[in-house]
Amino acid sequence: MMRVGIIGLGNMGGRMAKRLLEQGVEVGVFDLNKEFMRTYASLGAEEAESPADLASKFQYVITVLPNVYIVKEILIGEDGLMKGLNPNSLLIEMTTSIPSETKEINKMLKNAGFRMIDAPVSGGVKKAEDGTLSIMVGGEVSDFEEAKPLLSNIGQNIIHVGEVGAGHTIKALNNMISAATLAVTGEAIALGVKLGLEPTKMLSVINSSTGKSFSSDFKFPNQVLTRNFEVGFTLDLMVKDLKIAMSMAEEEKVPLFISSASFQLWKQAWSQGKGSQDHTTIVKHIEEMFNV
Ligand code: NAD
Repeated sequence: MMRVGIIGLGNMGGRMAKRLLEQGVEVGVFDLNKEFMRTYASLGAEEAESPADLASKFQYVITVLPNVYIVKEILIGEDGLMKGLNPNSLLIEMTTSIPSETKEINKMLKNAGFRMIDAPVSGGVKKAEDGTLSIMVGGEVSDFEEAKPLLSNIGQNIIHVGEVGAGHTIKALNNMISAATLAVTGEAIALGVKLGLEPTKMLSVINSSTGKSFSSDFKFPNQVLTRNFEVGFTLDLMVKDLKIAMSMAEEEKVPLFISSASFQLWKQAWSQGKGSQDHTTIVKHIEEMFNV
């Protein structure tokens, strides 16, 4: 029987825990939010007292947390994961994180005799619920092969992309594209409305033409047009991901023209206090600027 501990039961981790339980996996949970712990315990998960307690009881440990600083705290803090891991354990780091920090974490774990892969995800809460996420993995091929049966319970496209840190690299690049695409689609639709066109008709055209994207095909009909900006992937997290992409480009000394413009727009919305709403609220932000 596969035994998996999950740390972080928010929008993504909670849905992953539920999905794993539905697939018959034995699941352990830890989160600062005790209410979340109780919710998943009532579905059959085992509550851990600390990250160390979870690691000592579960061979596979998934972290799906807001950022790398929290991941580090979970690893090396008092009663942290490092105190409970054993040489058979495999840490599966699914947070969207900073590749250089992930490589440092891997070094630290390796020196202590432990193993990790980075395996961030894409697809949002709906795909987490359905177990159809895309999962991009960095790490040793043998660790990837070991984790694959477990990951196939929560994801559909599970792709090994390179060494530890590679998963986090492609995840930041994917979101850099995703952020710019949603923003430019928002500008196009808002401009079209100003010019007297109807959003649904414009989307019908775009989705059967070359402007089609996941933003126009899924986010607009399901979130933007329904004005459903409450739950999902927060604008705060998108800004975090764009900062990661920007810093990767800075380290490599390359300019990012399109993404820099998109980043400024996202930061503008974020600086106006819109960070805790779903990231699709960027379209509402554009509509406000365009007065439509
Ligand atoms: P979230 O804010 O909904 O959940 C984070 C969870 O971590 C919360 O339950 C919180 O209580 C818990 N937490 C925070 N600090 C903790 C600590 N010190 N110890 C234990 N638990 C702690 O975030 P999310 O939307 O689930 O995103 C998680 C990660 O997945 C992020 O890195 C995000 O960028 C990435 N991601 C999110 C989505 C999405 O659609 N939401 C999609 C792809 C990737």
